[in-house]
Amino acid sequence: MVSVHNTEILNMFVTLAGFTNNEVYIVNQDGTVVTESGITGIATGEKIDEKELTQLQDGHAIDKEFHYLPSTERFLVSGRPIFNESKFEGGIYVMSSLDAIDHSISQVKRLSLISGIVALIIGAGFIFVLSRRISAPLLKMEKATREISRGDLKTRVNIHSNDEVGQLAVAINDLAIELERYRTNRQELFANISHELRTPITYLEGYANVLQEGLYHSEEEKNQYLSIIATETRRLIHLINDLFDLAKAEEEQLGMNKEAVQLSRVLKAVIVKVGLKAKEKGIQIIEDISEQDKTILGDEQRLEQIFINLLENAIQYMDEGVVHITLEEGTTDYVRVIIKDNGQGIPTSELPYIFERFHRVEKSRSRDYGGTGLGLSIVKKLVELHGGRIKVTSVVGKGTTFVLSFPSMH
Ligand code: ADP
Repeated sequence: MVSVHNTEILNMFVTLAGFTNNEVYIVNQDGTVVTESGITGIATGEKIDEKELTQLQDGHAIDKEFHYLPSTERFLVSGRPIFNESKFEGGIYVMSSLDAIDHSISQVKRLSLISGIVALIIGAGFIFVLSRRISAPLLKMEKATREISRGDLKTRVNIHSNDEVGQLAVAINDLAIELERYRTNRQELFANISHELRTPITYLEGYANVLQEGLYHSEEEKNQYLSIIATETRRLIHLINDLFDLAKAEEEQLGMNKEAVQLSRVLKAVIVKVGLKAKEKGIQIIEDISEQDKTILGDEQRLEQIFINLLENAIQYMDEGVVHITLEEGTTDYVRVIIKDNGQGIPTSELPYIFERFHRVEKSRSRDYGGTGLGLSIVKKLVELHGGRIKVTSVVGKGTTFVLSFPSMH
């Protein structure tokens, strides 16, 4: 228990004050300082303010600032009353130098300012390094895309990282490869087109000259030349129409009027259309088109175009024989149309290419038939535009089978 009369305890407080860097003074019940830890300005025997004493007697704490005038040092003074079994015995005051606190605060302020500046410098450095790491490849890519857009399609971006920047570089390279492929393809296409156009035009020009100059010996010879001109003109029209269809199909712009189409109806109409040609060659068309309602979502005209092309080919590349047309339920969700002929067939080595533009198996023969080499590529595109697939199998001398599958409607 604290007692202002116990000198040992009083001394202990003074010692403790020394440890904690604070000053202490203790007053008795009259408000007289009985001990102090060597405070300048407060001496043993001095009396505290009467008001303060009353406050302590009433059990109230005292908190105030103390300024010892000759010096500039300020103190925060905190006084607490001492009661012994509810009897007022005096009070104990602790004084902490405000200068020390101020010093600590300004030290903390300085420290936080320094650490702020250091953090700012580190942050700025980090951002600089990071932005260099990001911007350098971006600049590289910008340069590459500009070169690509100028037509230098061999340009590639040489960045191999596993992040978004790396992915962007791969995408730019893929784009360049695709553009290069497209350009080569287009160059080949134009070379083919000009070649295909030149042949009939050369015939037309040549025979027109012969007729104009009267370089024929009989009316029969003249008619023969006129019929060549007519055939070549038809070939030109055919070629131009095919080219136009192919271009539109490749751009997927072909005006597709998709609606529910009953395939058996389309196939029957097609068989009637090619019937005359088949009959002329002594070819029989056998159909196995059940009356079942096999409906697909498609463009009736384009579907007709697909089947006419395939049937005309079957008739074209066969001297005599039979063409089978079958309509059947394929695997789930698909309907199948099978066109099988027993004509001359296609060599296995040629099969992978027959759907390519201008590919003819036997060039001169196909030309004799008036073929453009575009028919099957148009067919393939049209089938794909219907969400379908086309497959071919063939044995030379035995015949060819085309299997088409289309997604069915439910
Ligand atoms: P073309 O206008 O020359 O007929 P296609 O693209 O329709 O062109 O066909 C490409 C080539 O495939 C043809 O030149 C022909 O040699 C071959 N071909 C297509 N269909 C058949 C078939 N049913 N039987 C044999 N050969 C065929």
